[in-house]
Amino acid sequence: MRAVRLTAWGQEPALVEVERPVPREAEVLIRVEAAGLCHSDVHVVDAAAGALPYRAPFTLGHEVAGHVAVLGPGADGTTIGERVVVHGPWGCGSCAQCAAGRDNYCDRRGDLSWHGVGLGRDGGMADYVLVPSARHLVPIGDLSADQAAPLSDAGLTSYHAVAGLRYSLGEGSTAVVIGVGGLGHLAVQILRATTASRVLAVDIRDESLALADRSGADFATLLQADTARVLRKRSGGVGVDAVFDFVGSTATLEMATAALRPSGELALVGSGGGQINVRKPGFLPPGFRLSLPFWGTRPELAEVIALARSGALRVETERFPLSAAPRAFDRLRQGQVRGRAVLVPD
Ligand code: NAD
Ligand code: ZN
Ligand code: ZN
Repeated sequence: MRAVRLTAWGQEPALVEVERPVPREAEVLIRVEAAGLCHSDVHVVDAAAGALPYRAPFTLGHEVAGHVAVLGPGADGTTIGERVVVHGPWGCGSCAQCAAGRDNYCDRRGDLSWHGVGLGRDGGMADYVLVPSARHLVPIGDLSADQAAPLSDAGLTSYHAVAGLRYSLGEGSTAVVIGVGGLGHLAVQILRATTASRVLAVDIRDESLALADRSGADFATLLQADTARVLRKRSGGVGVDAVFDFVGSTATLEMATAALRPSGELALVGSGGGQINVRKPGFLPPGFRLSLPFWGTRPELAEVIALARSGALRVETERFPLSAAPRAFDRLRQGQVRGRAVLVPD
Protein backbone atom coordinates (compact mmCIF):
# COMPACT_ATOMS: atom_id res chain seq x y z
CA MET A 1 0.00 0.00 0.00
CA ARG A 2 1.05 3.62 -0.37
CA ALA A 3 1.84 5.87 2.60
CA VAL A 4 3.07 9.44 3.11
CA ARG A 5 5.98 8.94 5.51
CA LEU A 6 8.31 11.10 7.50
CA THR A 7 11.33 8.98 6.60
CA ALA A 8 13.89 10.96 8.63
CA TRP A 9 13.98 14.25 10.55
CA GLY A 10 14.78 17.17 8.29
CA GLN A 11 13.43 15.37 5.17
CA GLU A 12 10.31 16.28 3.23
CA PRO A 13 7.56 13.65 3.58
CA ALA A 14 7.70 10.98 0.86
CA LEU A 15 5.03 8.84 -0.78
CA VAL A 16 6.39 5.30 -0.48
CA GLU A 17 5.23 1.70 -0.79
CA VAL A 18 4.91 -0.16 2.54
CA GLU A 19 3.51 -3.51 3.66
CA ARG A 20 -0.21 -3.48 4.45
CA PRO A 21 -0.46 -4.18 8.23
CA VAL A 22 -2.23 -7.30 9.51
CA PRO A 23 -4.28 -6.63 12.68
CA ARG A 24 -3.38 -8.72 15.72
CA GLU A 25 -5.26 -9.13 19.03
CA ALA A 26 -7.69 -6.18 19.48
CA GLU A 27 -6.34 -4.18 16.52
CA VAL A 28 -8.56 -2.99 13.67
CA LEU A 29 -7.45 -2.24 10.10
CA ILE A 30 -9.23 0.75 8.54
CA ARG A 31 -9.46 1.34 4.79
CA VAL A 32 -8.80 5.08 4.58
CA GLU A 33 -11.36 7.17 2.67
CA ALA A 34 -9.93 10.60 3.60
CA ALA A 35 -7.13 12.10 5.70
CA GLY A 36 -6.92 15.76 6.65
CA LEU A 37 -3.73 17.79 6.50
CA CYS A 38 -3.18 19.89 9.64
CA HIS A 39 -0.77 22.75 10.21
CA SER A 40 0.69 20.57 12.99
CA ASP A 41 1.90 18.23 10.23
CA VAL A 42 4.00 21.12 8.92
CA HIS A 43 5.34 21.74 12.45
CA VAL A 44 6.22 18.01 12.72
CA VAL A 45 7.94 17.89 9.33
CA ASP A 46 9.90 21.05 10.19
CA ALA A 47 10.89 19.86 13.68
CA ALA A 48 14.57 19.28 14.44
CA ALA A 49 15.63 15.76 15.43
CA GLY A 50 14.98 15.34 19.16
CA ALA A 51 12.45 18.17 19.43
CA LEU A 52 9.53 15.70 19.52
CA PRO A 53 9.46 12.31 21.29
CA TYR A 54 8.48 10.50 18.03
CA ARG A 55 10.78 7.99 16.30
CA ALA A 56 11.07 8.31 12.51
CA PRO A 57 10.06 6.75 10.18
CA PHE A 58 6.29 6.83 10.56
CA THR A 59 3.28 7.59 8.38
CA LEU A 60 1.72 11.04 8.79
CA GLY A 61 -2.00 11.80 9.02
CA HIS A 62 -3.87 12.36 12.30
CA GLU A 63 -7.33 13.21 10.87
CA VAL A 64 -8.63 9.94 9.48
CA ALA A 65 -11.99 8.63 8.26
CA GLY A 66 -12.75 5.36 6.50
CA HIS A 67 -14.34 1.98 7.01
CA VAL A 68 -13.41 -1.12 8.95
CA ALA A 69 -11.65 -3.56 6.62
CA VAL A 70 -10.14 -6.30 8.83
CA LEU A 71 -10.59 -7.18 12.52
CA GLY A 72 -7.90 -8.66 14.73
CA PRO A 73 -8.90 -11.96 16.43
CA GLY A 74 -9.67 -10.16 19.72
CA ALA A 75 -11.29 -7.01 18.31
CA ASP A 76 -14.80 -6.12 19.39
CA GLY A 77 -17.06 -3.08 19.42
CA THR A 78 -17.18 -2.67 15.63
CA THR A 79 -18.00 -4.66 12.50
CA ILE A 80 -16.49 -5.06 9.04
CA GLY A 81 -17.66 -2.26 6.76
CA GLU A 82 -18.63 0.15 9.55
CA ARG A 83 -17.81 3.74 8.55
CA VAL A 84 -15.80 5.48 11.27
CA VAL A 85 -13.60 8.36 12.20
CA VAL A 86 -10.49 7.72 14.31
CA HIS A 87 -10.19 9.38 17.74
CA GLY A 88 -6.55 10.30 17.17
CA PRO A 89 -4.93 10.95 20.57
CA TRP A 90 -3.67 7.56 21.71
CA GLY A 91 -2.47 7.40 25.30
CA CYS A 92 -1.15 4.51 27.38
CA GLY A 93 -4.63 2.94 27.32
CA SER A 94 -4.65 2.07 31.02
CA CYS A 95 -4.53 5.25 33.15
CA ALA A 96 -7.73 6.87 34.49
CA GLN A 97 -7.69 9.51 31.75
CA CYS A 98 -7.41 6.95 28.93
CA ALA A 99 -10.10 4.78 30.53
CA ALA A 100 -12.47 7.77 30.29
CA GLY A 101 -11.65 8.42 26.60
CA ARG A 102 -9.45 11.36 27.61
CA ASP A 103 -6.30 9.99 25.93
CA ASN A 104 -5.48 13.60 24.99
CA TYR A 105 -4.53 14.08 28.67
CA CYS A 106 -2.99 10.63 29.29
CA ASP A 107 -1.16 10.61 32.62
CA ARG A 108 1.73 8.66 31.04
CA ARG A 109 2.13 11.00 28.07
CA GLY A 110 5.70 11.77 29.10
CA ASP A 111 6.67 8.07 28.89
CA LEU A 112 5.27 7.52 25.37
CA SER A 113 7.13 8.03 22.09
CA TRP A 114 3.94 9.16 20.36
CA HIS A 115 0.94 11.47 20.83
CA GLY A 116 -1.43 9.56 18.59
CA VAL A 117 -2.22 8.35 15.10
CA GLY A 118 0.15 9.99 12.61
CA LEU A 119 2.06 11.61 15.48
CA GLY A 120 4.77 9.06 16.24
CA ARG A 121 2.50 6.13 15.25
CA ASP A 122 1.61 5.22 11.65
CA GLY A 123 -1.20 7.51 10.54
CA GLY A 124 -3.85 7.85 7.90
CA MET A 125 -2.12 9.43 4.89
CA ALA A 126 -2.11 5.94 3.41
CA ASP A 127 -4.41 3.37 1.85
CA TYR A 128 -4.91 1.69 5.25
CA VAL A 129 -4.28 2.55 8.89
CA LEU A 130 -3.94 0.19 11.84
CA VAL A 131 -5.82 1.24 14.99
CA PRO A 132 -4.86 -0.42 18.33
CA SER A 133 -8.45 -0.92 19.49
CA ALA A 134 -12.03 -0.21 18.44
CA ARG A 135 -12.26 2.13 21.46
CA HIS A 136 -10.55 4.72 19.23
CA LEU A 137 -13.36 4.60 16.63
CA VAL A 138 -16.49 6.76 16.41
CA PRO A 139 -19.18 5.78 13.87
CA ILE A 140 -20.05 8.43 11.25
CA GLY A 141 -23.02 6.84 9.49
CA ASP A 142 -23.47 8.43 6.07
CA LEU A 143 -21.36 11.54 6.75
CA SER A 144 -18.90 11.99 3.87
CA ALA A 145 -15.31 11.04 4.68
CA ASP A 146 -13.85 14.38 3.59
CA GLN A 147 -16.14 16.07 6.15
CA ALA A 148 -15.58 13.50 8.90
CA ALA A 149 -11.77 13.36 8.75
CA PRO A 150 -11.15 17.07 9.57
CA LEU A 151 -13.76 16.90 12.31
CA SER A 152 -11.49 14.52 14.25
CA ASP A 153 -8.90 17.23 14.91
CA ALA A 154 -9.79 20.62 13.40
CA GLY A 155 -13.37 20.09 14.62
CA LEU A 156 -12.61 18.24 17.85
CA THR A 157 -9.81 20.54 19.04
CA SER A 158 -11.98 23.61 18.41
CA TYR A 159 -14.94 21.97 20.13
CA HIS A 160 -12.86 21.01 23.17
CA ALA A 161 -11.41 24.54 23.44
CA VAL A 162 -14.88 26.12 23.25
CA ALA A 163 -16.38 23.56 25.66
CA GLY A 164 -13.78 24.49 28.28
CA LEU A 165 -14.88 28.15 28.21
CA ARG A 166 -18.59 27.71 27.56
CA TYR A 167 -19.51 28.95 31.07
CA SER A 168 -18.13 32.39 30.17
CA LEU A 169 -19.87 32.61 26.78
CA GLY A 170 -23.47 33.32 27.72
CA GLU A 171 -25.91 35.93 26.39
CA GLY A 172 -24.21 39.26 25.67
CA SER A 173 -20.68 37.78 25.68
CA THR A 174 -18.04 38.23 22.98
CA ALA A 175 -15.60 35.61 21.68
CA VAL A 176 -12.65 36.20 19.35
CA VAL A 177 -11.13 33.64 16.98
CA ILE A 178 -7.59 34.44 15.79
CA GLY A 179 -6.55 32.48 12.68
CA VAL A 180 -9.46 31.36 10.53
CA GLY A 181 -7.86 28.32 8.88
CA GLY A 182 -8.66 24.63 9.26
CA LEU A 183 -9.34 24.90 13.00
CA GLY A 184 -10.50 28.51 13.18
CA HIS A 185 -13.33 28.31 10.64
CA LEU A 186 -14.79 25.40 12.59
CA ALA A 187 -14.29 27.25 15.89
CA VAL A 188 -16.43 30.07 14.50
CA GLN A 189 -19.16 27.59 13.53
CA ILE A 190 -18.95 25.78 16.89
CA LEU A 191 -19.20 29.06 18.82
CA ARG A 192 -22.30 29.93 16.77
CA ALA A 193 -23.85 26.50 17.25
CA THR A 194 -23.11 25.94 20.96
CA THR A 195 -22.84 29.36 22.65
CA ALA A 196 -24.77 32.65 22.68
CA SER A 197 -21.64 34.76 22.17
CA ARG A 198 -21.02 37.36 19.52
CA VAL A 199 -18.17 36.00 17.35
CA LEU A 200 -15.35 38.20 16.07
CA ALA A 201 -12.58 36.87 13.80
CA VAL A 202 -9.03 38.01 13.01
CA ASP A 203 -6.66 36.82 10.29
CA ILE A 204 -3.95 38.16 7.98
CA ARG A 205 -5.56 36.90 4.73
CA ASP A 206 -8.60 38.43 3.04
CA GLU A 207 -9.77 34.93 1.95
CA SER A 208 -9.83 33.87 5.61
CA LEU A 209 -11.99 36.86 6.52
CA ALA A 210 -14.43 35.79 3.79
CA LEU A 211 -14.32 32.25 5.21
CA ALA A 212 -15.05 33.63 8.70
CA ASP A 213 -18.01 35.45 7.22
CA ARG A 214 -19.35 32.30 5.54
CA SER A 215 -18.81 30.42 8.83
CA GLY A 216 -21.11 32.83 10.67
CA ALA A 217 -18.78 35.38 12.28
CA ASP A 218 -20.44 38.67 13.21
CA PHE A 219 -17.34 40.64 12.27
CA ALA A 220 -13.95 39.84 10.73
CA THR A 221 -10.86 42.02 10.47
CA LEU A 222 -7.23 41.88 9.38
CA LEU A 223 -4.65 41.88 12.21
CA GLN A 224 -3.39 45.45 12.49
CA ALA A 225 -1.81 47.72 15.08
CA ASP A 226 -5.19 48.85 16.49
CA THR A 227 -7.02 45.48 16.31
CA ALA A 228 -7.30 45.09 20.10
CA ARG A 229 -9.04 48.48 20.30
CA VAL A 230 -11.38 47.57 17.41
CA LEU A 231 -12.33 44.29 19.11
CA ARG A 232 -12.96 45.99 22.48
CA LYS A 233 -15.22 48.49 20.75
CA ARG A 234 -17.12 45.64 19.03
CA SER A 235 -17.61 43.99 22.45
CA GLY A 236 -19.49 47.05 23.69
CA GLY A 237 -16.39 48.78 25.05
CA VAL A 238 -15.58 46.56 28.03
CA GLY A 239 -13.30 44.05 26.32
CA VAL A 240 -13.95 40.53 25.09
CA ASP A 241 -14.79 37.52 27.28
CA ALA A 242 -12.67 34.91 25.52
CA VAL A 243 -10.01 34.70 22.85
CA PHE A 244 -9.22 31.48 20.98
CA ASP A 245 -5.74 31.92 19.52
CA PHE A 246 -5.12 29.44 16.68
CA VAL A 247 -1.83 31.15 15.77
CA GLY A 248 0.05 31.66 19.05
CA SER A 249 2.67 34.16 17.91
CA THR A 250 3.90 36.84 20.30
CA ALA A 251 1.95 39.40 18.24
CA THR A 252 -1.35 37.50 18.49
CA LEU A 253 -0.89 36.74 22.20
CA GLU A 254 -0.20 40.41 22.97
CA MET A 255 -3.18 41.50 20.91
CA ALA A 256 -5.36 38.90 22.65
CA THR A 257 -4.46 40.00 26.17
CA ALA A 258 -4.99 43.66 25.22
CA ALA A 259 -8.50 42.86 23.91
CA LEU A 260 -9.68 40.89 26.98
CA ARG A 261 -11.92 42.30 29.70
CA PRO A 262 -11.07 41.75 33.38
CA SER A 263 -11.45 38.01 34.18
CA GLY A 264 -11.14 37.29 30.45
CA GLU A 265 -10.08 33.88 29.16
CA LEU A 266 -7.33 33.07 26.68
CA ALA A 267 -7.27 29.62 25.09
CA LEU A 268 -3.93 29.13 23.36
CA VAL A 269 -4.27 26.44 20.68
CA GLY A 270 -1.81 27.47 17.95
CA SER A 271 1.78 26.26 18.16
CA GLY A 272 3.31 29.53 16.93
CA GLY A 273 5.90 29.53 19.72
CA GLY A 274 5.12 33.08 20.91
CA GLN A 275 5.48 34.19 24.51
CA ILE A 276 3.72 36.43 27.00
CA ASN A 277 5.01 37.53 30.36
CA VAL A 278 2.93 36.44 33.33
CA ARG A 279 3.74 38.52 36.40
CA LYS A 280 2.21 40.74 39.08
CA PRO A 281 2.19 43.66 38.88
CA GLY A 282 2.01 43.57 35.11
CA PHE A 283 -0.17 44.26 32.11
CA LEU A 284 -2.43 41.23 32.11
CA PRO A 285 -6.08 41.93 33.00
CA PRO A 286 -7.04 41.12 36.61
CA GLY A 287 -8.64 37.68 36.81
CA PHE A 288 -6.96 36.68 33.53
CA ARG A 289 -7.05 32.93 32.89
CA LEU A 290 -4.98 31.00 30.37
CA SER A 291 -5.60 27.46 29.10
CA LEU A 292 -3.64 25.22 26.75
CA PRO A 293 -6.28 22.87 25.37
CA PHE A 294 -4.92 19.85 23.51
CA TRP A 295 -7.06 17.94 20.95
CA GLY A 296 -10.24 16.53 22.61
CA THR A 297 -11.89 13.52 24.21
CA ARG A 298 -13.62 10.58 22.58
CA PRO A 299 -17.08 11.56 23.96
CA GLU A 300 -16.54 15.05 22.54
CA LEU A 301 -15.68 13.58 19.13
CA ALA A 302 -19.04 11.78 19.15
CA GLU A 303 -20.69 15.15 19.94
CA VAL A 304 -18.86 16.86 17.07
CA ILE A 305 -19.96 14.14 14.63
CA ALA A 306 -23.56 14.49 15.86
CA LEU A 307 -23.37 18.27 15.43
CA ALA A 308 -22.11 17.86 11.86
CA ARG A 309 -24.77 15.27 11.04
CA SER A 310 -27.42 17.72 12.30
CA GLY A 311 -26.17 20.21 9.68
CA ALA A 312 -24.60 22.70 12.12
CA LEU A 313 -21.01 22.23 10.89
CA ARG A 314 -19.66 22.40 7.37
CA VAL A 315 -15.92 21.92 6.75
CA GLU A 316 -14.60 23.86 3.76
CA THR A 317 -12.22 21.48 2.05
CA GLU A 318 -9.70 21.39 -0.76
CA ARG A 319 -9.40 17.80 -1.99
CA PHE A 320 -6.15 16.30 -3.25
CA PRO A 321 -5.43 12.73 -4.36
CA LEU A 322 -3.09 10.97 -1.92
CA SER A 323 -0.42 10.95 -4.64
CA ALA A 324 -0.50 14.80 -4.63
CA ALA A 325 0.40 15.02 -0.91
CA PRO A 326 3.62 16.99 -1.57
CA ARG A 327 1.62 19.67 -3.44
CA ALA A 328 -0.90 19.86 -0.58
CA PHE A 329 1.93 20.30 1.95
CA ASP A 330 3.43 23.09 -0.19
CA ARG A 331 0.12 24.93 -0.43
CA LEU A 332 -0.47 24.69 3.32
CA ARG A 333 3.05 25.89 4.09
CA GLN A 334 2.56 28.89 1.79
CA GLY A 335 -0.72 29.81 3.50
CA GLN A 336 -2.77 29.09 0.38
CA VAL A 337 -5.21 26.47 1.65
CA ARG A 338 -8.75 27.69 2.29
CA GLY A 339 -10.34 25.67 5.12
CA ARG A 340 -8.85 22.16 5.26
CA ALA A 341 -6.79 20.22 2.72
CA VAL A 342 -7.97 16.62 2.56
CA LEU A 343 -6.08 13.73 0.93
CA VAL A 344 -8.17 11.04 -0.73
CA PRO A 345 -6.57 7.69 -1.75
CA ASP A 346 -6.72 7.57 -5.57
P1 NAD B 1 -4.06 26.69 9.12
O1 NAD B 1 -2.78 26.93 8.40
O2 NAD B 1 -5.15 25.94 8.45
O3 NAD B 1 -4.70 28.09 9.57
C1 NAD B 1 -3.97 29.11 10.19
C2 NAD B 1 -4.69 30.43 9.93
O4 NAD B 1 -4.05 31.45 10.69
C3 NAD B 1 -4.65 30.87 8.47
O5 NAD B 1 -5.92 31.32 8.06
C4 NAD B 1 -3.63 32.02 8.48
O6 NAD B 1 -3.89 32.97 7.47
C5 NAD B 1 -3.84 32.58 9.87
N1 NAD B 1 -2.70 33.32 10.40
C6 NAD B 1 -1.38 33.06 10.25
N2 NAD B 1 -0.65 33.97 10.92
C7 NAD B 1 -1.52 34.82 11.50
C8 NAD B 1 -1.38 35.97 12.33
N3 NAD B 1 -0.17 36.41 12.71
N4 NAD B 1 -2.50 36.59 12.76
C9 NAD B 1 -3.72 36.15 12.42
N5 NAD B 1 -3.92 35.07 11.62
C10 NAD B 1 -2.83 34.42 11.17
O7 NAD B 1 -3.66 25.99 10.50
P2 NAD B 1 -4.54 24.98 11.40
O8 NAD B 1 -4.36 23.58 10.86
O9 NAD B 1 -5.89 25.52 11.61
O10 NAD B 1 -3.71 25.00 12.77
C11 NAD B 1 -3.64 26.19 13.54
C12 NAD B 1 -2.63 26.02 14.69
O11 NAD B 1 -3.17 25.14 15.67
C13 NAD B 1 -1.30 25.40 14.28
O12 NAD B 1 -0.25 26.03 15.01
C14 NAD B 1 -1.44 23.96 14.70
O13 NAD B 1 -0.20 23.33 14.93
C15 NAD B 1 -2.23 24.13 15.98
N6 NAD B 1 -2.99 22.95 16.42
C16 NAD B 1 -3.09 22.75 17.76
C17 NAD B 1 -3.85 21.69 18.24
C18 NAD B 1 -4.01 21.50 19.71
O14 NAD B 1 -4.54 20.48 20.13
N7 NAD B 1 -3.60 22.42 20.56
C19 NAD B 1 -4.51 20.84 17.35
C20 NAD B 1 -4.41 21.08 15.99
C21 NAD B 1 -3.65 22.15 15.53
ZN1 ZN C 1 -3.74 18.60 13.99
ZN1 ZN D 1 -3.07 6.95 29.67
